[in-house]
Amino acid sequence: MIGAIEAGGTKFVCAVGDETGNIIERIQIPTTVPEETIPRVIDFFKQYSIKAIGIGSFGPIDVNRESATYGHITSTPKPGWRDFPFVQAIGDVFSVPIGFNTDVNAAALGEATFGAAKGLDSCLYITVGTGIGAGAIVQGNLLQGLSHPEMGHILVRRHPNDVYRGKCPYHHDCLEGLAAGPAIEERWGVKGDLLVDRMEVWEMEGYYIAQALMQYVLILSPKKIILGGGVMKQEQVFTSVYQYLQEFVNKYVVLPELSEYIVSPGLGDNAGITGSLMLGYQALLEAK
Ligand code: ADP
Ligand code: ZN
Repeated sequence: MIGAIEAGGTKFVCAVGDETGNIIERIQIPTTVPEETIPRVIDFFKQYSIKAIGIGSFGPIDVNRESATYGHITSTPKPGWRDFPFVQAIGDVFSVPIGFNTDVNAAALGEATFGAAKGLDSCLYITVGTGIGAGAIVQGNLLQGLSHPEMGHILVRRHPNDVYRGKCPYHHDCLEGLAAGPAIEERWGVKGDLLVDRMEVWEMEGYYIAQALMQYVLILSPKKIILGGGVMKQEQVFTSVYQYLQEFVNKYVVLPELSEYIVSPGLGDNAGITGSLMLGYQALLEAK
């Protein structure tokens, strides 16, 4: 049996399952402070005989195995979690191989193994929710350099009608600062799902996401793009993304039919936890 942790800013999903992506048992634990959340994670896994654990975590995190702070959550503003040694906290209790990556890289892995990008050696998974982040599979591997990608914080051109300052504490009007759920809510002064009938909201959202996608397409040339997260539950954002991407790319690169190229997660809300399971399986294979 393999353990999986999808660590989000609001909740942790813990699961046990196998390498076929089959989830046998799962629980949700609210993300409060590590002293509270982590013991509950440990209690859950103690019920099972686990051979490996995969962790897909909110970040930024240190994924560089050569680093002294490998396995830590690093610069999060979330109280209590800054510099938290995640892999060590789990590894102290369970002496099994541990895979550790970002939540979005895990989701990309889940989708490439069992979801909308199944069978492809290249895909991009983007979440538009409380934050914006993306994970990528490039030539069969999760994309990693000095650290993991941080594609949510790229700079975008402002929509001509947008006077909102932006919500990112680091960059103000980066993509996340202008287009994540909390930015939408602050700009329009209403909760996201109450804005359903406001066309201008989703048109502007599509304008920003399409710019990001254009840059990802030009740089990474992914074979499939998967758009997940709470904001993408508004189907009309896809329509706006398709229109603007068409306009921005302007036939410079040839793309597949956009409604087949840019899609919702095939695994629905299970992309992250399934990918975390596969991170555990990869760690198990590497340890052998
Ligand atoms: P998280 O990013 O914490 O994992 P979500 O992906 O559900 O969680 O993102 C939560 C954000 O998405 C909220 O800030 C909210 O603004 C927005 N959101 C959630 N559901 C919807 C919806 N149905 N329509 C529009 N926005 C939504
Ligand atoms: Zn930013």
